[in-house]
Amino acid sequence: MKVLITNDDGIFSEGLEILVKKLQRHFDVSVVVPDGERSGAGHAITLLNPLRVRRVRHSPFDGIDAWMIDGTPMDCVILAVDELVKDISVVISGINNGFNLGDDIFHSGTVSAAMEGTLLGFPSIAISTAPDGKENFELAADIAYAAVLYVVENGLPDMTFLNINVPKGSKGVRLTKQGRRRYIGKVHKYKDPRGLDCYWIGGKIEDEGESGTDVDAVKNGFVSITPVRLDVTDYTLLGRMESLRDSIEKRYR
Ligand code: MN
Repeated sequence: MKVLITNDDGIFSEGLEILVKKLQRHFDVSVVVPDGERSGAGHAITLLNPLRVRRVRHSPFDGIDAWMIDGTPMDCVILAVDELVKDISVVISGINNGFNLGDDIFHSGTVSAAMEGTLLGFPSIAISTAPDGKENFELAADIAYAAVLYVVENGLPDMTFLNINVPKGSKGVRLTKQGRRRYIGKVHKYKDPRGLDCYWIGGKIEDEGESGTDVDAVKNGFVSITPVRLDVTDYTLLGRMESLRDSIEKRYR
């Protein structure tokens, strides 16, 4: 059974190395990842430049099919599926160095790669751990293995993937919904050496996690497993927007 492993931290990521070592004991794995870190790349696709693909043979990828690409995580999934890897059963993205909770889902390259796997019809998993959570990668890899087994045996609904976060010293597992995570003071303004303004997006995290959310689970030391749907239609509002439709339709009369 073929497992496609990708990430947004790039080929030199320790989380990737530990995930590959764990999963290759149990599955036929192929690796297609960016040639450097692309955290925050979200769902971006490279359209205006050609992509270069290089085969990777050094440890820990010796003996398995591994490639690095000078593009985004999305480019990696697309090239893997269309060109490089045959007979994929599951797509897994990670292990990311840093959580992907709440709003992070919309920026994260790690999560977006799992989203793309889902859009292309494969059961997909994103897995992330605490920033600099090196001692945590082994546990996250064990959890990744269990999650792959689960999706192989049970499948996932169409247009749904699993987003998993593994805090340090975790006490157990919670099945969660998406919370809110905001970044306060996002834009930092600096002067460059020539005295010109430059900006750096970062900011302090402010989590809003009511009970039952991924944010709350991780804050309290539990692994969070969130099934995320890609149909983000608001069906309640959809049924209540006739007045908007009618006001615009007047223009057609
Ligand atoms: Mn990352």
